[in-house]
Amino acid sequence: MRLKSVNPKNGELVREFDPATDQSIEQALEAAEHAFRAHKRASFNERASRLRALADRLEEDCQAHARLLTDEMGKTLAAARAEVEKCAWVCRHYADNAEAMLADVELESDAELSAVMHLPIGPVLAVMPWNFPFWQVFRAAAPAVMAGNVVLLKHASNVPRTALALQSLFESAFAPGVFQSLLIGPDRVERLLADRRVKAATVTGSTRAGSSVAEIAGKHLKKTVLELGGSDPFIVMPSADLEQALDTAVTARMLNNGQSCIAAKRFIVHADVFDRFVGGFVERFEALKVGDPLEESTDMGPMAMDRLRRRLESQVDRLLELGAERLAGAVPMDGEGYFFRPGILSGIDPNAPAFDEELFGPVAWVLRAESFDRALALANQTQYGLGSSLWTQDANEINRAFREVESGATFVNSLVKSDPRLPFGGIKQSGYGRELARDGIIEFVNRKTVVVG
Ligand code: NAP
Repeated sequence: MRLKSVNPKNGELVREFDPATDQSIEQALEAAEHAFRAHKRASFNERASRLRALADRLEEDCQAHARLLTDEMGKTLAAARAEVEKCAWVCRHYADNAEAMLADVELESDAELSAVMHLPIGPVLAVMPWNFPFWQVFRAAAPAVMAGNVVLLKHASNVPRTALALQSLFESAFAPGVFQSLLIGPDRVERLLADRRVKAATVTGSTRAGSSVAEIAGKHLKKTVLELGGSDPFIVMPSADLEQALDTAVTARMLNNGQSCIAAKRFIVHADVFDRFVGGFVERFEALKVGDPLEESTDMGPMAMDRLRRRLESQVDRLLELGAERLAGAVPMDGEGYFFRPGILSGIDPNAPAFDEELFGPVAWVLRAESFDRALALANQTQYGLGSSLWTQDANEINRAFREVESGATFVNSLVKSDPRLPFGGIKQSGYGRELARDGIIEFVNRKTVVVG
């Protein structure tokens, strides 16, 4: 199947690409192996100066890269610029810190010397999503190349122009073969993972995709890191600064046109402040400006693909059939492009199967909790465990949330977001392993024990 770059603002087909042939996949594997032989021997200093050069390119051409992201998947230009800048940050972070992160660790034993070294393993396959089409790739690739590995990217099929732009960017700083984009569909992932030259895979995407890649990787005994879906709870307690919680709630749900794994998706609000929260939430949602993502005043652009918009619409319809109440929006917008009016639903039955689904678009749920215990129970009533946030001034509630909310991260009185300095990842069906910080770079190295008797 051809890979199509469609502008979600108007549905126009911009370019089509033939998928990689068997022969070009083989060439890429050869090139990756060849590049690895030299790249693994490069000093940290050399890798770091190349990665810093890449960060410079990102910043110099920020506007052009941002424009590509906006045109290919619909995020606002302001959000796209911020994404490109964050990629430069993660490059510099690993350029500055990888050597210390991967330093040998000496250990006590009966031997004259015993230590653990952190050595590169080889080509890593990165299966990546379209929603942060630069950031997701950079946060996997920057630590990988600093560790001495090389990367084969299978990007999402709807962002082929971004995939090619990423390869050009890396080629401007690194030797050919250190980073390659393969324009392929999911059906070719097994071909790659079955190949002896590919040593591991990292997947960011839906739980379905992660499970499928992990199954194949398991068969071929390849290590995986999985960053998958989420349905993050956002708990608001009576002592919270409600105005601050409300402002952040809108950002947390609407970030990236509502299409973020760590978007807050279920707003669990204590009964004492429920009506005030809902009033402020609806008011803020209705004031959001949905429109052309190139305009600086736009809050929300289109959804990335029509099929995602239709899926969200059918999820909303099903929730309404199950008794949910529509408090605002939550409908596709007329006219060209894949626009969706931001919406809020309430009254969702926590026992309905749909309670466990991820709404990957600009629709929030609000749920009433009579107590903190009930809020925690609702927060954990999900197959997912990515991020979570709590709004309160109560130290006991904070302490309990840190220990009892089942997620890879809990943020208090603050927006859940990724940061190159902090580990990022999930538990339960949100995946396993970690990206970013030292945890991220350690995932794809051989922690080799060395002993001198
Ligand atoms: P997706 O459909 O799972 O696609 C992600 C990537 O996986 C794409 O490259 C896709 O290729 C590939 N893929 C899909 N099915 C596959 C299969 N059976 N075997 C091998 N590869 C497969 O996800 P998406 O719709 O692009 O992204 C949204 C999802 O990603 C949401 O669930 C979101 O929460 C999650 N996400 C998680 C994180 C995180 O850090 N935890 C970050 C961002 C997004 P094609 O495009 O060619 O189908």
